[in-house]
Amino acid sequence: MKYICLQCSSEEEIPLQVVRNFDAMDDGDPTVPPQFRCEECGGAMYPEYYKGVHGYEYRISDVKK
Ligand SMILES: [Zn+2]
Repeated sequence: MKYICLQCSSEEEIPLQVVRNFDAMDDGDPTVPPQFRCEECGGAMYPEYYKGVHGYEYRISDVKK
């Protein structure tokens, strides 16, 4: 699945299984998707689209115009 940097718009392919594992281990706020750091600029990355293990859906369009 695709993650997009909120700062520089760099895109990164992250295996869905990796994201799922992160999500399953994360006891934090379920309204926030699993977080990854951009390799280009260190900024926060957000999933283009992801439905979490708790049923929340995340879209890049929710946080970026
Ligand atoms: Zn970046």
